[in-house]
Amino acid sequence: MRQIINRAEPMSFVFWLKKNKNKEWSDFSGSFAYHELREYMITIQEKMCCYCEISLNTNKEAHLEHLKSRHNYPIERFNFDNIYASCQFNDSCGHFKGHANYNKMVLPDSVCDQRFTYTNNGLIIPSVSGDTAAINTIESLNLNCKRLKNARQDIIRIIEDINDTALVDEYLMNCVEWVNGFYTVIEYAKVEG
Ligand SMILES: [Zn+2]
Repeated sequence: MRQIINRAEPMSFVFWLKKNKNKEWSDFSGSFAYHELREYMITIQEKMCCYCEISLNTNKEAHLEHLKSRHNYPIERFNFDNIYASCQFNDSCGHFKGHANYNKMVLPDSVCDQRFTYTNNGLIIPSVSGDTAAINTIESLNLNCKRLKNARQDIIRIIEDINDTALVDEYLMNCVEWVNGFYTVIEYAKVEG
């Protein structure tokens, strides 16, 4: 998980909110402003899911995700700082998370990069053992589902085989195109290799 620093809100979102006071998320979802905001967040996130870092090649591969769930924090539903782009897989990330407790998780609006590391067989683990928020995050987002674990393991093996730091740096620059995202996994494999 990489820290994502939100920038200014896109104007189409600001205008929609001005024109549509007291509306629900379902009124916004599907609107032109929704599509604009999703595209904008994907760009800010360098085309990676805010939780698992899988690449988001097309806009349809992502949905707008609330860090504080709409169910538990309805007042935060249109707070720009609470909205990120997550992948569409049901076995992890935003769709899996549901109403998990925001306060007990490490999320991409914080310095999250340092809280997680990996094992050589592709598991994501807390950097400091016993970090309950990191453990809870991995479980709440199901970041060790078989699909993600295997994808990470493949990348780590490839990087280990390359054994060329300059080349790996180049892959980091282009990681979305190269291996479907996973920036911090490549970083891990580079250091470990
Ligand atoms: Zn994801």
